[in-house]
Amino acid sequence: MTNAETPKGFGLAIDFGAAAPAADPAVATKAAPAAPTEARLLILGSGPAGLTAAIYAARAGLAPVVIGGYAPGGQLMLTSEVENFPGFPEGIDGPELMANMRKQAERFGTIMVDQDVDRVDLSAEPHRVWSAGREFHAEAIIVATGASALWLGLESETRLRGRGVSACATCDGFFFKGQEVVVVGGGDTALEEALFLTRFATKVHLVHRRDTFRASKIMISRVQAHASIQLHMNREVIEVLGEKSTEAVMLRDTTPGATSAPERLATGGLFVAIGHKPNTALLGGALPVDAAGYLQLESETTASQIDGVFIAGDVHDHRYRQAVTAAGDGCRAALDAERWLAERDATKS
Ligand code: NAP
Repeated sequence: MTNAETPKGFGLAIDFGAAAPAADPAVATKAAPAAPTEARLLILGSGPAGLTAAIYAARAGLAPVVIGGYAPGGQLMLTSEVENFPGFPEGIDGPELMANMRKQAERFGTIMVDQDVDRVDLSAEPHRVWSAGREFHAEAIIVATGASALWLGLESETRLRGRGVSACATCDGFFFKGQEVVVVGGGDTALEEALFLTRFATKVHLVHRRDTFRASKIMISRVQAHASIQLHMNREVIEVLGEKSTEAVMLRDTTPGATSAPERLATGGLFVAIGHKPNTALLGGALPVDAAGYLQLESETTASQIDGVFIAGDVHDHRYRQAVTAAGDGCRAALDAERWLAERDATKS
């Protein structure tokens, strides 16, 4: 693939924390001018957590404003078939599911702002949020900024990102039709991506650094049974080779005591599927995080340590991290915010 052929969105990583330029300004800023900057409830993030919160809050008459990022929709925008979201017995494409959630939220009066949040000030009321040069004020805020894909951290991986290196098989798999590709990781994401890529690639090499997978049993069985997937256990990618595009990866044997020289594996594509990091940078340390950087809840509710600020979805959940649990969390956050606002109204009157 030449650079000129690189499709829009290649290597797309959702990061609500970064002030990146709009992927498509015509789309990304469409709703922004109409969005009010004074809101009762601001929701940061537009994945299943943010949009479910918006559906509930909008139906409660709060006219929530969702600042959802230049690449809205969260991680499901990078997913192929979602088979475990209740209500879709035949499965549904991730982007289609997110488009439906957005439509449902807008139907009840949610205002969407397709811009990144640059920074926040939660130290005083009203809470303040800056996005693309505009300052938003809100009585209550739901932080539902999700998590972003992790990378291996190789210089060659960064250099060739968008030139064969990707974190999104759904976005980019099509471009590897007829080629051999490599997927790195041993969790459900890696195995799902490997299976998805068999639709296009002649062969999928699944590289995992240990001899056992972290993924669910059903995914392991599917991968092991697939004729087009070759497993490379106890191996790690130490370099991506290629000048203008990816040509091969170097694999090192991670078996304790192994002394063999790294092996070259020819490939047109490297899909990195090794997990995610929570998107908290935009908060500037305003809320406490755990050792892995995930936001911490104050109690069994979705309340944070700051009055009127609530937390939902993958930005705090490193245990379940499912679309349906994020959606459930969004519902809980909206109910908590709604009650908090109602109590506040009652004390004022
Ligand atoms: P994960 O479960 O954390 O797995 C990450 C994998 O990447 C692990 O196998 C890990 O190896 C490997 N890894 C991490 N850092 C690495 C590095 N620097 N170099 C090489 N390998 C590295 O992440 P995930 O697969 O993204 O899944 C996250 C959660 O989402 C899980 O709970 C999963 O079940 C869920 N999920 C569900 C579905 C579904 O149900 N359809 C789909 C996708 C994900 P080690 O095993 O050695 O640590």
